[in-house]
Amino acid sequence: MSKIIAVNAGSSSLKFQLFNYPGYDVIVSGVVERIGLEMGTVTLKYDGKKDVVNTPFPTHTEAVDYVLKSLLEKNIISSLDEIKGCGHRVVQGGSYFSSSAICDEDSIAKVQELAPLAPLHNPANLTGYYAFKKAIPDAGQIFVFDTAFHQTMKPENYLYALPYEYYTDLKVRRYGAHGTSHKYVSQQAIEMLGNPEHSKVVVCHLGNGASLSAVKDGKCMDTSMGFTPLAGVVMGTRCGDVDPSIMPYLCEKLEKTPAEVLDIYNKKSGMLGVSGVSSDSRDVEAAYNEGNERAIVTFKLYARTVAKFIGSYFVELGGVDAIAFTAGIGENSAITREMICDELTEALGVEIDKAENNTRKDGNRVISTADSKVKVMIIPTNEELMIAKDVVDLLGITE
Ligand code: ADP
Repeated sequence: MSKIIAVNAGSSSLKFQLFNYPGYDVIVSGVVERIGLEMGTVTLKYDGKKDVVNTPFPTHTEAVDYVLKSLLEKNIISSLDEIKGCGHRVVQGGSYFSSSAICDEDSIAKVQELAPLAPLHNPANLTGYYAFKKAIPDAGQIFVFDTAFHQTMKPENYLYALPYEYYTDLKVRRYGAHGTSHKYVSQQAIEMLGNPEHSKVVVCHLGNGASLSAVKDGKCMDTSMGFTPLAGVVMGTRCGDVDPSIMPYLCEKLEKTPAEVLDIYNKKSGMLGVSGVSSDSRDVEAAYNEGNERAIVTFKLYARTVAKFIGSYFVELGGVDAIAFTAGIGENSAITREMICDELTEALGVEIDKAENNTRKDGNRVISTADSKVKVMIIPTNEELMIAKDVVDLLGITE
């Protein structure tokens, strides 16, 4: 029995899941937060237990060492040699990677080269790789790219109407994000449709960050995020698509630099900015239920922007067989799903069973009525499982 680890390293955090192989059951999951700050926190979940420890982690290296030492001390593994492979989530793979890649000189250089396109993420993802390489040098390591699934998009979907040299020379194009989730959820949706030869699926990954994708016969045709994960629909703190001319206008009126306004676009906009309540949809929903006008308009705006993307994907795909909701809001917020689907009923014949939509259940399920022209599904995402499977496939791990 081997162990496979799926890693998601952020600038100040490190999330991971350890899997058994064969079987892919999760043995332990954990997160180290506030790396580099005065005091850090590590949370480990295993055997139905949850351990939380506060201790400082100057860098990711100390965080990884601590986690691995804990796995040994808690007898979750008996030797580090059991960990045969490690998969690292990388946010930006540019046009280089249409699938996962073994970490070697070439792929590391490319992830590094792409850092200007994801300045907060790619360097952090590489830091995670280096920390694990140091701690378990004999384990195989791979990169799994958030952008890879979207590489099947055609130029008419990934190009911006800017001077063409900005694409060829400066790599300005739509890359998308959340690709591992879109791939997993669309595959599950196709399975739920009975694995037809041809399928048209729209995936709505609605979490703190949110993106939609249009998937035809298992291949991504279009996605809502763009050059960066700021584009597309309304998010927790991100604005999604806005008129580009707002940027210089705000710079002038607020006497701020473009970088400062971009920070507002990223961190103070979206649900938080419009509602003035919170970036968390649960808080905005509570305010909505109390009749808070700005919370009400936030929900309406959110549902409208998502529905408009779904509508445009109906056109692109020539119809839709299934709409799949996933991630924190997509999986849990019945009101959000209802408001989005209500927008689609008159034009597209999408009808959900409201009682079913309001019922909490685990696992994949259908919430549309028998008469609905489109199946509406809830599919909990599992990016870590996809990463672990790619580790096994790419490294040829047999047991
Ligand atoms: P990310 O991975 O992008 O940080 P998640 O997929 O975990 O985000 O989604 C986080 C969001 O999901 C939260 O902001 C919250 O609004 C929403 N969410 C989580 N649980 C619930 C719930 N039970 N009801 C409604 N919304 C929820």
